[in-house]
Amino acid sequence: MLTENLHIVTQKIISACYNSGRNINDIKLLAISKTKPIWMIEELFKNGVTDFGESKAQDFRDKVEMIKLPINWHFVGNLQKNKIKYIVGKAKLIHSVDNFDIAYEISKRAEILNMTQPILIEVNTSEEETKHGLITENDVLALLESCKKLKNINVIGLMTMAPFTEDKERIRQSFARLKNYMINFNKQGFNLFELSMGMSNDFDIAIEEGATIIRLGTILFGERNLEQDWRKNGNNSIRY
Ligand SMILES: *Cc1c(COP(=O)(O)O)cnc(C)c1O
Repeated sequence: MLTENLHIVTQKIISACYNSGRNINDIKLLAISKTKPIWMIEELFKNGVTDFGESKAQDFRDKVEMIKLPINWHFVGNLQKNKIKYIVGKAKLIHSVDNFDIAYEISKRAEILNMTQPILIEVNTSEEETKHGLITENDVLALLESCKKLKNINVIGLMTMAPFTEDKERIRQSFARLKNYMINFNKQGFNLFELSMGMSNDFDIAIEEGATIIRLGTILFGERNLEQDWRKNGNNSIRY
């Protein structure tokens, strides 16, 4: 099932690239493995997927600890101060920073580890109240400016989640808005180059609008069953 899903996704990425004149090498597939057992991650890794993302700090910590493969781990979820230590230094990229307090904590932790942590700023391009992220260009700019003072983080781009709608034009506008923000910030001297946008239902549109990282869960792993505990689901066995 997983290899078949990966094959279908790869074909869709290729065709979205073809449609928009983009190079497939400019798009990173990030497999969002939240709630999914370890054997699935191992199987996708075996088939060439190198980057995996989690959205809960403890799950992130435990999976990084348990899986002995050279995976690039990403954190895409809500950040809490007291759990920053599980993530900084282990994540190749933290996608979901939307306030200075958290950026400050990340930098402080990175300083202790004597490293620089790459991060993205999360933008709420759909302006839906249930979503995290900053909305206005000015607010994002202000956070970018204040992050300059933090020596141990490196802001390399922006992240967003599209609105929850069937309306493809609104989805497209939300991605286009993220890209516009990035272009405008770079005109003001910033050096942002990653756009983390596009999920299972809308990654083709995101690619057409300039995504450099697409975050795919369901389309790769199947529906998430929140009742299921990944720790009890064959987590130590490789099932192939
Ligand atoms: C769960 C999640 C995804 C993946 O969503 P799917 O619709 O299952 O592809 C992507 N990004 C974030 C931030 C998520 O929390």
